[in-house]
Amino acid sequence: MSHTPSRQDFDHYMAPNYAPQQVIPVRGEGSRLWDQQGREYIDFAGGIAVNSLGHCHPVLVEALKDQGEKLWHLSNVFTNEPALNLAKALVDRTFADKVFLCSSGGEANEAALKLARRWAVDHHGEHKDKIISFYQSFHGRTFFTVSVGGQPKYSQGFGPVPGGILHADYNDLESVRKLVGDDTCAIMVEPMQGEGGIVPGKQDFLQGLRDLCDEHNALLIFDEVQTGVGRSGELYAYKNYGITPDILTSAKSLGGGFPVGAMLATDAVAKSLVIGTHGSTYGGNALASAVALAAVEFIDTPEVLEGVKKRHDLFREHLETINRKHGVFKEIRGMGLLMGAQMSDAYEGRAKDILPLAIEEGLMALIAGPNVLRMAPSLVIPEADIAEGMARLERAIERLVAAA
Ligand SMILES: *Cc1c(COP(=O)(O)O)cnc(C)c1O
Repeated sequence: MSHTPSRQDFDHYMAPNYAPQQVIPVRGEGSRLWDQQGREYIDFAGGIAVNSLGHCHPVLVEALKDQGEKLWHLSNVFTNEPALNLAKALVDRTFADKVFLCSSGGEANEAALKLARRWAVDHHGEHKDKIISFYQSFHGRTFFTVSVGGQPKYSQGFGPVPGGILHADYNDLESVRKLVGDDTCAIMVEPMQGEGGIVPGKQDFLQGLRDLCDEHNALLIFDEVQTGVGRSGELYAYKNYGITPDILTSAKSLGGGFPVGAMLATDAVAKSLVIGTHGSTYGGNALASAVALAAVEFIDTPEVLEGVKKRHDLFREHLETINRKHGVFKEIRGMGLLMGAQMSDAYEGRAKDILPLAIEEGLMALIAGPNVLRMAPSLVIPEADIAEGMARLERAIERLVAAA
């Protein structure tokens, strides 16, 4: 008989850098998942803002099967039709003139940071090397991106960190003014901090960053790895603000579950990425590009984007109703279908205690730091699944309250 994998196998065979929940989902359809025992769950986690169309959406399955029978991979010695179609679709729909394809968010940000440094050297000289980013920000796990990220616990303990990186306070323009100068190469910012606690950027803060970049000939990089591809109710969150970056990074929802990332840039900036300056074996992989193209074309329609805004209101109403009864949240916030509920003082630091209770009630959710319950469901989650998921969340919260 063949071996049935168990949660113990994780501890035996996998590197110990994660602590997954005890259940092992084996099948998904839309916003529902089933585990090895056939127990069913509603998915408000969405693979951490990745499964933009839920699980096994027919449009993505078809794109995958269709491309899977034609051509998977060529390397960048050749180009391929799906990659060209994806790049054109992104250029047609955004501020960008050029696209660099890769396989993850961290890789897209690594490309953005290297491009910014190279652009500065090309146009202004070696001295213009300072990158400003924000405390609590998250930009990936490569050594450069983790150092630009604003959570020292992720970058410390690995020896000397890359230099020229400065951190300011999010939504505090004054703190940026103290650091910015003619040696500033780029400001990298999430229009809404995701891992840092679902904190939307304020309009005048993001506009202020744009102005400071213009004043000091620096590049504005929007990390839209978590907020991008419909998550915010627009294709990209920058469209909600009407503030245009010079470079934008995308991943997570872009592939709807297939690993893919993209860096978008204006022509003037992208020019610095000349032959040989950067690369990625899997970047522009035909299979990944075909799935991402299907996701972008399906999501960037008025029906889906309006649906995200409508579902946002539903999530908010349900969370407020739960909170009126149980008083566990201090603030409910977010954009589109990236929502956070900050725990009230009495439950400070206890967001993670909700997750195993929710799983027992048949709901998958997320946290963003110790104090924020996070939800990043499918952009097309049915209203009935929202209602049932919220009923399960309420039962989990009742148990949290009862145990307090
Ligand atoms: C998840 C995330 C990343 C990292 O993406 P990976 O695909 O894990 O490399 C970068 N930036 C933001 C804002 C993210 O949410």
